[in-house]
Amino acid sequence: MSDPPTLPGRLKLSLQSPQPTALKALPGAGPATARRLKDRGYQDQLDLLLFLPRTYRLTTRFCSGDLIRTRRPAYLEAYGEVVHLSRPGPQSRAPFEVHVDVDGARLKLLWFRLPFRGFDRKFRMGATVHFEGAVDYDRGGQIAHPTAKVVGSPTPQAPSMALEPVYPSIEGIRDSLLFDMIARALDTLGPHLKEGVPSSCLNGQEFPGIEAALRTLHVRDGADDAEALSQAVTRARARLVYQEFFDLQHALTVRYIEERRAARAPRCEERELGRDLVRGLPFPLTSDQKAAIASIADELSSTVPMRRLLQGDVGSGKTVVALMAAAIAIGSGVQVAFMAPTDILARQHLSRTEEFFDGLDLTWGHLAGGQPAADRRAVLQGLESGDIPLAIGTHALFQEGVKFHNLGLIIIDEEHKFGVEQRQALLSLGRDPHLLAMTATPIPRSLAHAVFGDRDLTIIAEKPPGRTPVKTVLRDSSRAPRMWSYLADRIGDTGEQAYVVFPLVEKSDAVARRKSVIEGAEALANGPLKGLRLGVLHGRMAPDEKAAIMDRFAAGDVQVLCSTTVIEVGVDVPNATMMVIQNAELFGLSQLHQLRGRVGRGTADSLCVLLTSGPLTDDAALRLKAMVDSDDGFALAETDLRIRGPGEFLGPRQAGLPEFRFGDILGDAPWMLAARRDARRLLLGDASR
Ligand code: ADP
Ligand code: MG
Repeated sequence: MSDPPTLPGRLKLSLQSPQPTALKALPGAGPATARRLKDRGYQDQLDLLLFLPRTYRLTTRFCSGDLIRTRRPAYLEAYGEVVHLSRPGPQSRAPFEVHVDVDGARLKLLWFRLPFRGFDRKFRMGATVHFEGAVDYDRGGQIAHPTAKVVGSPTPQAPSMALEPVYPSIEGIRDSLLFDMIARALDTLGPHLKEGVPSSCLNGQEFPGIEAALRTLHVRDGADDAEALSQAVTRARARLVYQEFFDLQHALTVRYIEERRAARAPRCEERELGRDLVRGLPFPLTSDQKAAIASIADELSSTVPMRRLLQGDVGSGKTVVALMAAAIAIGSGVQVAFMAPTDILARQHLSRTEEFFDGLDLTWGHLAGGQPAADRRAVLQGLESGDIPLAIGTHALFQEGVKFHNLGLIIIDEEHKFGVEQRQALLSLGRDPHLLAMTATPIPRSLAHAVFGDRDLTIIAEKPPGRTPVKTVLRDSSRAPRMWSYLADRIGDTGEQAYVVFPLVEKSDAVARRKSVIEGAEALANGPLKGLRLGVLHGRMAPDEKAAIMDRFAAGDVQVLCSTTVIEVGVDVPNATMMVIQNAELFGLSQLHQLRGRVGRGTADSLCVLLTSGPLTDDAALRLKAMVDSDDGFALAETDLRIRGPGEFLGPRQAGLPEFRFGDILGDAPWMLAARRDARRLLLGDASR
């Protein structure tokens, strides 16, 4: 399978008709200047137009002596006559000073190092100097390191004020040259620039055209009204951001259309099994669940393969939505593969399936690593012959030897735990199967659109009724003894259960991790939690051992489960109401939220204790505070994104993250949503998905 073409990220300008765009065509740009620009990633004049000012400065042009006497212009340009010169000797540390007279007002220009050798030789008493720079009135009106040049006599002009662009400096290129090059490029290329975004979309946003936007950003003679300029600049910048996002969304929507054009997914229209499933559920579906099921059912009934991402906070009830999708597909005669990142989770889905499909005529098979060969063989046969319509398992689902008779729907739980190739491998087991991906680590919508823009997105925002938010507290480990005795009492009194999570002591060392859990659990069992039934769970246990301990915990036989983060995703034991996370400062925010999501699943009040030891880093303090303050996965995801930035936040998924030049996924989120909506409206005639 060939890789999809790379997606646009950084904004590129283009021309309506060919024009010379070489940097060296610009007056004053020698080979050295061109090379310096190229080193910074500016290959031609079009790139240079996107070299934006870092700020704007209020400048007084043709500043008069009267104005200087008011001590107001902070940054000025003026002509003056040299009235005093002081050239320090070669060993002196004193600056080179030129005192100038501007219609009777005096200014001192000074240089601690000369811009080039012999610079000072150009100045003579009585000469006219053109200069500009920032004035320090407190030091008797001095300008350190001004731009200055001896000139013939000036043509007098009235003073004027303008907000002027200040560019990031590039070593070896004078600011004024850079400025002139950009102005020149804008003059010659501006009228030939391609708009880049269809006018129907631009007008909807009331954006300036590309040339106008660039003029606002670069041009010197502009407003002297800071407020008006700032608004115009904001709008012009938004125009570029929007275009950057629009290019991406357009490409993603094209990909979305292309991927399906030739594909023929199985039409799944039979709803009887789904109806039976709903009838047997021990609870009514929430309206978000119903809406999610409705859009999924709608897509399953079409031959265009579904590519849907179902997002919902932990505990929002995604599993039953997935099982409904499975029921519709199976009822319509195709097979379903339901993949989870861990076997614990896969087995939990199995038991959900058993519970929900109880009494319905349905068989299913389980595939996991380390399974007895005979079990595995039986499942493989059933899948190949089509006798088994539903396969639930880990990545073992797409390993060597797995063949499906007619795989029509793939469900991936906690999709972010899988890589792109793994998803592709699973998809290739069917002929144009439908795909439903789920994730319980909510991704802020704008980021989701940037990374998964070629999917439809469904969000389950509401949680099933009757849940009380988990109370979360932060405790220093010095208070641990009191906390353990509270835990012991609470569990003894109520019959509720608890998780105790041990941290990754050392990321790379699974042995140390296991040791920390085993020894930690022992210390608790012999110490503060004496008399309670403790169980231990860690990633290095055999699948059957893990399953056994989970079963005992689910049955209430184990009261306190001491675990590594293997319980992070998906595990659902509603009677567990207390969680202690040790060294909580070591965990990431989404991981903490996932862990906490293991409690608060029933109607009883739940408590999550974040135990910390030692002083906290700033980021850790922010994360923990966010956990105490909020129980909302989407809000936490945004905080997390803010703390870590998109690359870190996405982790293994970041391969799909485009690199933007202007757009900021968080700060410019509304433009991402607008670009997505507009691109979809343009290409699909429908912006609602
Ligand atoms: P997640 O979205 O994190 O995967 P689950 O699907 O595991 O959440 O659901 C969490 C719990 O909520 C499960 O015990 C599930 O049976 C229960 N549940 C799901 N939907 C509802 C509902 N509509 N009303 C009550 N409980 C529900
Ligand atoms: Mg889940």
